Amino acid sequence: MKIIPQMEPVYGDEERLAMDAYLRSGGWLTEHKETARFAEMLSEYTGALHCLITNNGTVSLTLALLALGIGPGDEVMVPNFTMIATPNAVKMTGATPVLVDVESKTLCLSLERAAEKITSRTKAMIYVAFNGRAGDMKQVTDFAEKRGLFLIEDAAQALGARQNGRHLGTFGKVGSFSFSSPKIITTGQGGALVTSDPVLFERLKKLKDFGRTQGGLDTHDAIGYNFKFTDLQAVIGIEQMKRLPERVARKKAMFEAYRKSLAGVAQIEIVATDLNDVPPWFVDIYAEDPDGLAAALKAKGIHTRRIYPPIHSQQAYQVAGHFPVTESYAARGLWLPSSIRVTDEDIAFIAGAIKNFYAERK
Ligand SMILES: *Cc1c(COP(=O)(O)O)cnc(C)c1O
Repeated sequence: MKIIPQMEPVYGDEERLAMDAYLRSGGWLTEHKETARFAEMLSEYTGALHCLITNNGTVSLTLALLALGIGPGDEVMVPNFTMIATPNAVKMTGATPVLVDVESKTLCLSLERAAEKITSRTKAMIYVAFNGRAGDMKQVTDFAEKRGLFLIEDAAQALGARQNGRHLGTFGKVGSFSFSSPKIITTGQGGALVTSDPVLFERLKKLKDFGRTQGGLDTHDAIGYNFKFTDLQAVIGIEQMKRLPERVARKKAMFEAYRKSLAGVAQIEIVATDLNDVPPWFVDIYAEDPDGLAAALKAKGIHTRRIYPPIHSQQAYQVAGHFPVTESYAARGLWLPSSIRVTDEDIAFIAGAIKNFYAERK
């Protein structure tokens, strides 16, 4: 039986050859010129003035918060429907993540709900572009500005996503990306921050490199840690970046193919998605009996993954409260096979299996 994984990293000869050339060059393995080139490519692609590479997308969010002076006693608003790293990054700084329900239109943080959660301790808001979608970013930035909050964009799922021509992650004070294995491009582990604020950028650089006044010098004028990348990973990242435009196009085409072949299936909701702007990272559907559907698909070799439970319901959080939109979508969410290796024939087969499941259930 052919297995269609929900996701798999894609790399090939280009990465292998680049790695071979790098190892023959006698590089020091840790971050240096290749990492700088990877950062430049990301700056150019996103249009951000500065880009800092970190070892993952959780650390990048944590660094962003630390660089903005956020810590114990502070509150940071985060959406309740997101990957756990978003609130965990807040926890790592000692600040308190305040969970906010999402809006059904985008599955991103609801500004209306956020307005109700502001206290005198609220310092920042992490806006997650859920699966590359975002609300009106003008409204989001206005909301943060009016209330004196730092806007941090968690754009881990939004590399390649734009709004009015501007890349997501560049609207707020600082934006964060991830290059973990399932993301649109990967370095195994990896993360990045983009900002157009040179002062913040300097602070971030120091935080990630022991608070050094200058690379290679053992003089320190601030406390910093070690969240550096490696050139070993950067050579892979550079090759992945070269194919990003192609992947963005394929992700859009895949979503469209799924959307077309699942149109009219009453048991499935697909969130309205403007594919001119958004290359959905994964294909997300909100389905009746998602566990039953996942089991039926698995029997046919089609692997899926349930979308995140609400953060407030996780054992690690256990926050009281009612979050109707998050609860409704989390109860039905299923990621369908989304690797760029998934073919149009695969999508037709998967859609057929989904239709079969609901037809037999009637
Ligand atoms: C993947 C992801 C992260 C975490 O990134 P890592 O590199 O795995 O630490 C954070 N936020 C969101 C929304 C993600 O999808």
